[in-house]
Amino acid sequence: ADAVTGSSGHLTIDLAALQRNYRKLSAAVAPASAAAVVKADAYGLGAEQVSKALHAQGCRHFFVAHLPEALKLRPLLPNDTHIFVLNGLQPGAEITCTNADVVPVLNSLEQFRRWSFTAEKLGRVFPAVLQFDTGMSRLGVPPQERTALAAELKGCGNLEILFIMSHVACADEADKKQNADQLAEMRVIAAEFAGLDVCFANSGGVFLGGDYHGVLARPGIALYGGAPTAGRYNPMEPVVRLEVAVIQTRTVPAGTRVGYGGAHVTSAKTRLATIAAGYADGLPRSLSDCGAVFYDGVRLPIVGRVSMDSITVDITALPEGTLSLGSLVEVLGPHQTLEDVAEAAGTISYEILTSLGRRYERRYR
Ligand code: PLP
Repeated sequence: ADAVTGSSGHLTIDLAALQRNYRKLSAAVAPASAAAVVKADAYGLGAEQVSKALHAQGCRHFFVAHLPEALKLRPLLPNDTHIFVLNGLQPGAEITCTNADVVPVLNSLEQFRRWSFTAEKLGRVFPAVLQFDTGMSRLGVPPQERTALAAELKGCGNLEILFIMSHVACADEADKKQNADQLAEMRVIAAEFAGLDVCFANSGGVFLGGDYHGVLARPGIALYGGAPTAGRYNPMEPVVRLEVAVIQTRTVPAGTRVGYGGAHVTSAKTRLATIAAGYADGLPRSLSDCGAVFYDGVRLPIVGRVSMDSITVDITALPEGTLSLGSLVEVLGPHQTLEDVAEAAGTISYEILTSLGRRYERRYR
């Protein structure tokens, strides 16, 4: 019943669940509203499909990381939307941004000056977003540029600042003091740039409470079903299901080496299935001899090393003949969450999701 024809697996993306997650996040931040972070092709799930589904739920603010992502998305969304480029304004990209109706997040005084200079040259008023570094030291106007920026902004008539923003480094760790420190810093900045709206919370920030919401939250992972807060109950609905095809089965005696390096040696007679997903499909090599897949709720441990295009699993726990060529096993689904796989692999759900790649047949529903 599970046979797939030709493809090595199904990546099912539940757009209705995505939409319910968006509504849940919107309700959690109300009266603020929720944007959507759709960078890296909507965390690997398809920026076009994801953004359109969210637009239908009233989402009007979309964040990507790179300008080319914004340029690709712009014609796919109605013009009642804003698309923001988190990585900022690269020198020479000003005309491309304005022609495409894409809003760069201005991360420094230099970027502010370039954007404003271009607007002035064209005799126009450009929309803009100012990002401030409140303690992550990654992107955003550094503290030592703030006073000059505030002064220049006062005399600047050709930028319309839509909001100011910052990113919280530990929002998924609710008890970290750095959250409160960053919030305090954001409040100082908001006072310095009085009258401007604030955009602050990512997924974790949504659940840190109203102080973190500003007028616009910027969730990413929670939309896609990932846990907003590490190690706590995940209130979001799963969006992704990944079923992968069996490409060969075999029975081997005790003492048989399995996979690259001969690293795994069977301790008893073992039934094995090789599955069509490897590290090129987002199953990190760190899952070698420690991750698992599921069939009918039965855990099937990965044995030996993860290869580029396949893994081998121990199916001895299943009745003989249960799995054969073309059968589908669950990699992500009701028995194994993104967090489960990430934990086994020693990474985070974001990395698993964004690495799933393009080789699975995608099914949107
Ligand atoms: N805002 C910024 C600036 C980000 O870089 C990201 C993602 O890393 C997000 C928001 C969304 O974060 P999350 O996926 O944790 O909700």
